[in-house]
Amino acid sequence: MVESCGLKMTPQRRAIVLTSRATVYNTLNWLKEAGMVREVFEGGFVRFDPNTSDHHHFVCRKCGKVEDIGSELISKMAFDTLTGNHKVENFEITLRGICSGCHKQ
Ligand SMILES: [Zn+2]
Ligand SMILES: [Zn+2]
Repeated sequence: MVESCGLKMTPQRRAIVLTSRATVYNTLNWLKEAGMVREVFEGGFVRFDPNTSDHHHFVCRKCGKVEDIGSELISKMAFDTLTGNHKVENFEITLRGICSGCHKQ
């Protein structure tokens, strides 16, 4: 059982945490189905992105910040020739490195 800050995880508290988590996931799924957020798979985790337009991401490996990068900044590559007979409809690119804020330090 997880204990932190001297708080005990009682069965009642656990039930509240589980219910809250379910509510958060249900709400996120509802927002996704309504087209108000987009699911982004990043490093084994799922993030929900409020920016639903076509764009890419830059992830800072130091502070973990995720920045949106406009789709116009990355030219469309010849994915059709790379993937044989598959029909590519869209793509997302994740760039990884060190953000400008961390770079200055
Ligand atoms: Zn950073
Ligand atoms: Zn984004």
